[in-house]
Amino acid sequence: MAESSNGNKPVLLEVNNLKKYFPINKGFFKRVVGQVRAVDGVSFFINEGETLGLVGESGCGKTTTARCILRAVEPTAGEIRFLTNDGRTVDIATLPEEEMRFLRAEIQMIFQDPYASLNPRHNILDIVGEPLFVIQQMTNREERTERVRELLQLVGLRPEYMQRFPHAFSGGQRQRIVIARALALNPRLIVADEPVSALDVSVQAQVLNLMLDLQQKLNLTYLFVAHDLSVVKHISDRVAVMYVGKIAEISPTDELYYQPLHPYTAALMEAVPVADPRIRSAMIELEGDVPSPANPPSGCYFHPRCQFAIDICSKEAPELTELRPEHFVSCHRAQELTLEGIGEPR
Ligand code: SF4
Repeated sequence: MAESSNGNKPVLLEVNNLKKYFPINKGFFKRVVGQVRAVDGVSFFINEGETLGLVGESGCGKTTTARCILRAVEPTAGEIRFLTNDGRTVDIATLPEEEMRFLRAEIQMIFQDPYASLNPRHNILDIVGEPLFVIQQMTNREERTERVRELLQLVGLRPEYMQRFPHAFSGGQRQRIVIARALALNPRLIVADEPVSALDVSVQAQVLNLMLDLQQKLNLTYLFVAHDLSVVKHISDRVAVMYVGKIAEISPTDELYYQPLHPYTAALMEAVPVADPRIRSAMIELEGDVPSPANPPSGCYFHPRCQFAIDICSKEAPELTELRPEHFVSCHRAQELTLEGIGEPR
């Protein structure tokens, strides 16, 4: 495993050159005529107890990356190294399914739509108690009920509600139930895929604060996937920005928001509301559409939309390079553009 960036906490998850290609089939014999490069060489790590935000526009590969980490889809190539509870490092990408079943207790997922992830025919006791019964083999109903009671209290819900069904709860309460179920097996890593984007803005902050609170109490590690940069800013220690299956920039949160180094990140920042209207970053327009990962452009994938593109940008793919301590960027011109004032401090 790589060394922890903060020197103290161990690296819990390390993703190296992860790729997930989906074949494009055509014709009666389903001949493979191409590949959708949903994730195309992604690398990052997360320290124990840290939150890494993974952001980007729809279709950039962030959800596929998250699903590879859970082995909900099989990675095409690359490593997903995870430090287990008993101190072993395993490669999730190649772990036999039998071992993966046990590892799933340590890695849990929270999905975007809390209603869709709760069985409407089961009450909350059965929903939150299900992983205890199925995976932890906690067959004693009283013991299970007691644990569900604890979990509901932990997420700020009244234990008396455990006989109710999902339709009796608001969106925010349902997401709390989903979180309670995710916590049932004492996971160490939680992969949260757009966990608040289906909620009202007023409720989003409550759920984010709950997640922060639980992180403190339980030393949880989060991979927080979202398209909304202001949400990610609130919860993340570091942020990775994805574009067409690749990492464009990865940096400590404050530094990324204060001075982004990649033109794409700077353009995304334009959409983030700032408290003081006099504070503006350099105006960078994001024009055109995200290219298809089935047919990405040559060189830097961002070049058809980048107002700073030069000759080399359409020919050579830039490497992800550390320009400042812990601040990596994938752009041929990042150094020089920073000096010229792109990503001017906000
Ligand atoms: Fe723009 Fe070129 Fe940098 Fe890509 S490499 S972001 S096209 S300047």
